[in-house]
Amino acid sequence: MKCDICKKKVGETFLNKPLGTYVYDEKNKKRLVCFECESRYKSDKTKILEAMS
Ligand SMILES: [Zn+2]
Repeated sequence: MKCDICKKKVGETFLNKPLGTYVYDEKNKKRLVCFECESRYKSDKTKILEAMS
C-alpha cells in the first residue's frame, strides 16, 4: 500500500496492518496516510485531504 500524499510505500506490521492512518475523504473513500505525512500535517484531517487532491 502507498501513502496517498507522498506516494511512498507504507510498511506493514507483522499483523498486516499498515504503518499509517486511514482517513475518509468527502466521497467516503478510504485513504492511507503514512505517519510522516500525518505528523507533517499535524493530524489535521482537512489539511491531509487537501494535500491529496
Ligand atoms: Zn506519506
